[in-house]
Amino acid sequence: MSDNKTICYLCGKQIVEDGNEDHVPPKQFFGKELRRQLNPDLTTLHTHKKCNSSFQLDEEYFVASLMPLIQESESGRSIYNDVKRRYDRGKNVGLVSRVYEEFDSNPSGLILPNDKILKRFDRTRINRIIWKITRGLYYIENCLLLPEETNHKILYTFPGEEPPKWFVYLKGMKGKSNYPDVFDYLYLKETQDITGSIWVLLLWNQIITTTLFHDITCTCQRCIKKSSKKTNDNSPKRES
Ligand SMILES: [Zn+2]
Ligand SMILES: [Zn+2]
Repeated sequence: MSDNKTICYLCGKQIVEDGNEDHVPPKQFFGKELRRQLNPDLTTLHTHKKCNSSFQLDEEYFVASLMPLIQESESGRSIYNDVKRRYDRGKNVGLVSRVYEEFDSNPSGLILPNDKILKRFDRTRINRIIWKITRGLYYIENCLLLPEETNHKILYTFPGEEPPKWFVYLKGMKGKSNYPDVFDYLYLKETQDITGSIWVLLLWNQIITTTLFHDITCTCQRCIKKSSKKTNDNSPKRES
């Protein structure tokens, strides 16, 4: 990794042609009105066009599916206006109808304590975007690639819900984004008290996501065991 500029942060391979820039966080997290108002200066990372565009549909789904939950904030309403504007022009009609169908009384759904509405969402697609953003931020902060296959767990705190108990460790910490009302993040590295990294995103001042994983530089017994196993054995492994 002598020249970071030619490495795609998504697949870790060198970019020879087919280069592209990816905004971290995604540009569409800023509604059109806010983009005009703030003219946000977002960090971009190098990617292959193919790697980047493989996330495009999930990113659109991400915004449309979470949009109904974030309308209490100005940045969230700005997203709502974007989705509505596109819908009124006959675009994304299928996507919006699908999101509309996610509101129902399906018991496997998600309960929103505030208004007792059940909203399901495709967790695989939502998780995929959160993980991509986290990997992008990790690259920005550490200049290190976080491989997609790194084991991780993502937790969500929706409006009206209690944040996870380890939030006490974040007390007094300040978010790192220049546009905290739209998107903010902070992270805790491994310490004596905490095994693994904790990355917290705040989306549109309404949704908190917590992503837990072991740093690629982690030297805990489990990671050391895993990396030595990896070099000795190429068979597929499962986490216990
Ligand atoms: Zn790539
Ligand atoms: Zn570890």
